[in-house]
Amino acid sequence: MAKNQRISATDRAARIPSIVIVGGGAGGLHLATRLADTVGRRGLADIVLVDRYPTHFWKPLLHEAASGHRDPASHTIEYAAQARLYGFRFVQGELQRVDRTRRVVTLGAVLDGDGAPVLPERELPYDELVLAVGSVTNFFNVPGAAEHALPLENLGQAEDFRRKFLAACMKADHQAQANPTLPVQRIFINVIGAGATGVELAAALRQAVAPLTKYRFRSLIAERDVCIRLIEGAPRILPALHERVSDQALAQLRRMNIEVSTGVRISEVTHDAIMTATGDRLSADMTIWAAGVAGPAMLKQIGDIALNRSNQVIVTDTLQTPDDPHIYAFGDCAACRLEGRGILPPRAQVAHQQALYLGRAFARRLSGKDVSAFKFHDAGTVVSFGQAGAVYQIDFGSRARSLIVDGLVAIGLYKFLYRKHLFGLHGTKRTLLQSLGDWLQSHNRPTVKLH
Ligand SMILES: Cc1cc2nc3c(=O)[nH]c(=O)nc-3n(C[C@H](O)[C@H](O)[C@H](O)COP(=O)(O)OP(=O)(O)OC[C@H]3O[C@@H](n4cnc5c(N)ncnc54)[C@H](O)[C@@H]3O)c2cc1C
Repeated sequence: MAKNQRISATDRAARIPSIVIVGGGAGGLHLATRLADTVGRRGLADIVLVDRYPTHFWKPLLHEAASGHRDPASHTIEYAAQARLYGFRFVQGELQRVDRTRRVVTLGAVLDGDGAPVLPERELPYDELVLAVGSVTNFFNVPGAAEHALPLENLGQAEDFRRKFLAACMKADHQAQANPTLPVQRIFINVIGAGATGVELAAALRQAVAPLTKYRFRSLIAERDVCIRLIEGAPRILPALHERVSDQALAQLRRMNIEVSTGVRISEVTHDAIMTATGDRLSADMTIWAAGVAGPAMLKQIGDIALNRSNQVIVTDTLQTPDDPHIYAFGDCAACRLEGRGILPPRAQVAHQQALYLGRAFARRLSGKDVSAFKFHDAGTVVSFGQAGAVYQIDFGSRARSLIVDGLVAIGLYKFLYRKHLFGLHGTKRTLLQSLGDWLQSHNRPTVKLH
């Protein structure tokens, strides 16, 4: 559509409504697939998915991509292929503005690798707009953190981290070979934030070092030459989970030779160190920030939509914005407060349940039926230590009535989460085929990517 062209009420009434979903992540891609397969197939609505990238990678696997345990090439889903299979339209572009009066979103120009424009800035009309743009790293204004610490928000950043990690190993290995009489220059990796993401990342990195030194950097000794530190500001790691889970995780991480510090506030990050509030300086070849998330800054600029202090879109229990019932938001970018629960946490299971809910809600609205409020059913939290195991916690009403499980059950549950995500997108046959492919590949190559 040409820029600034008006969409009249008659134009809108003459065609089926357009549901535009912005963000094809853990929640948005599920919603687009489900809606296309239901109301889209019945000709009740035109389903459009917008994402700034052409492919989807499930965010909870990012730490496995960053450590090299997961080859992204085998785990990305092309939006265009999914769109063709299920019957929605895919439009690549980054959301920049929302014009609520004209019900039009503006997407930024798409550029090639050299920065030359491929697609110009465009407008896309909507009848119902769903924001599912996820979250970004919250550096909490710590000086130097945004400049020198690496975030882990998307596949590009995970790959960037992995390349830097390999380069640091290559350099230390070369120096050890060139000067065998001198002590090896140790590599220091600091992970800031010991929530589930930080813990899983630290464990995955530790497990990546041994195969790297075995196959490629043979002058390095994994445990001695690569130091992984996990630093948490709260008095214990995994502060959102039960104390028993924290204790179990701490013992496991220490067995894996990961240095864990709690109650440590970071006051500054530089290119080669982190400073603590008590004045300590810790060397850093790489610092990864996993200490919290916020809604993307872009949400402030897109239009007159109410946000909370974490920059998330405020939504009601039907996931609509209070000021405009034609705008919905869910997943990490939304602040959905449910009675007795507070604001739902930024987790894949929240985004997934909200996608299922919105799929049903749109179908009911389009058939002229009432829609009830969204209800969240907590299926528990599982934290993985890679090959070293996992721990799972589920609360029955309160923290005092929690079930905590480890061992094979917890490992199985962790693996099941990704299969469940694939099952929702691909159905049984393709999920089984992909699982078989993964299993065959895992028996045919080293456990981590070596380049
Ligand atoms: C390393 C790691 C491990 C995790 N592990 C777990 C776990 O074990 N369990 C769990 O429940 N949760 C986990 N999470 C959290 C989980 O990944 C998120 O809660 C979940 O992905 C949120 O889904 P979403 O759909 O809201 O956003 P996302 O999955 O982040 O998707 C957002 C999408 O929006 C697109 N987008 C962003 N901005 C724009 C724009 N301006 N225009 C167009 N497109 C845009 C992005 O490209 C992306 O495709 C983990 C997160 C990380 C980083």
